[in-house]
Amino acid sequence: MKVISFDVDGTVVDGKFMDRFWNELIPKYYSKKHGIDYSEALEFVKRCYDEVGDKDLRWYLPDYWFKRFQLDIELKDILEEFKDELKIYPDALEVLEKLKGRYKLIAVSNAVREIMDFELSELSEFFWRTFSCPSDIGDIRREPEVYLKICRILNLHPSKIIHIGDHPYFDFEVPTKAGIKSILIDRRGENGHIRSLREIEKFIDL
Ligand SMILES: [Mg+2]
Repeated sequence: MKVISFDVDGTVVDGKFMDRFWNELIPKYYSKKHGIDYSEALEFVKRCYDEVGDKDLRWYLPDYWFKRFQLDIELKDILEEFKDELKIYPDALEVLEKLKGRYKLIAVSNAVREIMDFELSELSEFFWRTFSCPSDIGDIRREPEVYLKICRILNLHPSKIIHIGDHPYFDFEVPTKAGIKSILIDRRGENGHIRSLREIEKFIDL
């Protein structure tokens, strides 16, 4: 039996939720805390994100940013407040439902465990295992080694896994280097192999 691996943000769960978390809520809290305009706070916060860059583990750690920006907030409170805005893509639900029982499904994310569990809270019945790479592996998926570690934990050869995700580097380039067959989804229909998860039947028997 093959294992099918799903990225979370932008693949199963609408990426707008986390986008809003980083690019709207954090600047909003920053603006409040430091008494500056929202637009100024937004510009400053984004500049700090860019300085660190998304290939750096710290970029993914809310606690790092809360500390750096001196924000007295708790991740769980923010998630709780905005939980109604979390949306699962309809095609993801449909496909998970079809794959369930026929394949073992796993979820792999660059988000910390608390965020990942929150995002998958309605979907836990579908996943055999979930991996928050920063929390469980100690790094984001910037090197094939992170995927290989997951393979070792599952006691699986990389050729037994098919990974699907929306990031050309983290979800395609890196897992491909690890020997994992990877499928890139691009919901805008520009650069991916598929535009909707419904199209994975081109690669996997549904
Ligand atoms: Mg993603």
